[in-house]
Amino acid sequence: LVLSCIPGRTNLCSNPSVSTPKDLPPSVIRCSLDSLDLEGYITFHDVHNASKDFGNRYHLPPLAILHPRSVSDISTVMRHIVRSTSNLTVAARGHGHSLQGQALAHQGVVINMESLLPSHDIKIYKGKQPYVDVSGGELWINILRETLRYGLSPKSWTDYLHLTVGGTLSNAGISGQAFKHGPQINNVYQLEIVTGKGEVVTCSEKRNSELFQSVLGGLGQFGIITRARISLGPAPLTVKWIRALYSDFSAFSRDQEHLISKENAFDYVEGFVIINRTDILNNWRSSFTPNDSTEASQFKSDGKTLYCLEVVKYFNSEEANSMTQETEKLLSELSYIQSTLFSSEVPYIEFLDRVHIAEIKLRAKGVWEVPHPWLNLLIPKSRIFEFATKVFNNIVTSNHNGPILIYPVNQTKWNKHTSLITPNEDIFYLVAFLPSAVPKPSGESDLEYLLRQNQRVLSFCAEANLDVKQYLPHYETQKEWRSHFGNRWETFAKRKHKYDPLAVLAPGQRIFQRVS
Ligand code: FAD
Repeated sequence: LVLSCIPGRTNLCSNPSVSTPKDLPPSVIRCSLDSLDLEGYITFHDVHNASKDFGNRYHLPPLAILHPRSVSDISTVMRHIVRSTSNLTVAARGHGHSLQGQALAHQGVVINMESLLPSHDIKIYKGKQPYVDVSGGELWINILRETLRYGLSPKSWTDYLHLTVGGTLSNAGISGQAFKHGPQINNVYQLEIVTGKGEVVTCSEKRNSELFQSVLGGLGQFGIITRARISLGPAPLTVKWIRALYSDFSAFSRDQEHLISKENAFDYVEGFVIINRTDILNNWRSSFTPNDSTEASQFKSDGKTLYCLEVVKYFNSEEANSMTQETEKLLSELSYIQSTLFSSEVPYIEFLDRVHIAEIKLRAKGVWEVPHPWLNLLIPKSRIFEFATKVFNNIVTSNHNGPILIYPVNQTKWNKHTSLITPNEDIFYLVAFLPSAVPKPSGESDLEYLLRQNQRVLSFCAEANLDVKQYLPHYETQKEWRSHFGNRWETFAKRKHKYDPLAVLAPGQRIFQRVS
């Protein structure tokens, strides 16, 4: 079948080491890929899912999808592509939860990392410094379930766990634990990588350290993460989950910064902005209990802009009393609106997997697979007040379309040698605008409006010179990427040339052009 697809080209199809000229039609490239000796397989149809991502705004079909069964499958395909002159690009696809096409490869090869074996082969080491060895295509939720069986857990998370290890380590993996443990990329001991040249390399802080640091937060540019060794700590059984409101941004941010500066305060610190909403406390009552029901029922948000502090303390049942005392002491140091204090106690896994519960509800309503024009920004502490005053009062006038998260992290504890780009201050804020552009009954949606709003936020940051960095960055031109990386651009580009000289990998990031 393969050989018959291009008459007279049988040598190309039967011998994968023979180059395929770049002006050959896709059918010949398909042929040569199809003839590779793999444990897994390559498909050229059913490419619909690999053509889009969670952002649901970019639809770019690949030529082929590799379903690898082994690391050697990935290496074989990479070597084949760099030896041929077919101009193919390759995107590792984790769970496809990127927002602007970062995991797509238009007319290239998408590697479905979740099919990489040994999938669900999660090996746990319970020594002094416990860790787990997993496939790069493993979902964090599976790692959590497995490590909990041993009373252990990774320390640093994302808010949503149905993402792959390779996908989040290519960015950073930031959530409310990052002030304490750093982002996920700072909690990795070792990686196995297939580079852009098809070489399989094991790397760590001590061994091939340049590749290790490049790949972490490296936007998929230097290699494909096929295995990762992730640091673990003791897992609590339960969490105390607390929310309280502020109407004054300065008081809110002062308290958040106070909490992240304390060693043994809370285990998770986040927050979110509420703009133009009413009845917010009543919505919480389904899962949180007010500290004082009478006072809580008298609180009226009246559409004011409010800031919600969200903190969590981990505990096991025998520590319940001391946890309550410590928590009360910590809360007494804060200046939230007293009537708005709500709390609940839930199992650790339920807290960590909280966004999935929301996902199930949104899927049931058919509003999960809609466009998501998200914008994630890292803002230096010294400029956050200016940002909040302008953006939450003048630019973003409601958060009906989705949450707006805001919380500080202290990067003095972060490893600064990864590829992640952050503002140049010890403390910065993550501000995440996470709207869904749900189509209205009329068929219209707020997508264009939300995109314009994002643009206004970005323009304000640029005009006010806030030294803001995008997280999960997206730019259209290399000039913008150079500005994103600043004085680290030369190093990033040099490493790209070293590990992926033909710029085959992760074309959806739009940083480098494939070299012909
Ligand atoms: P994909 O979208 O499949 O891939 C992302 C990028 O990584 C692509 O460029 C891809 O080519 C590359 N890549 C994928 N796998 C590999 C690999 N094995 N080796 C090398 N490169 C690879 N992020 C946070 O930090 N904190 C959060 O709290 C958070 N919450 C989120 C909640 C939701 C609902 C969603 C949709 C996203 C959230 N994110 C969060 C963003 C998320 O971490 C990134 O979008 C991440 O890349 C998604 O992982 P994925 O497995 O879907 O990756």
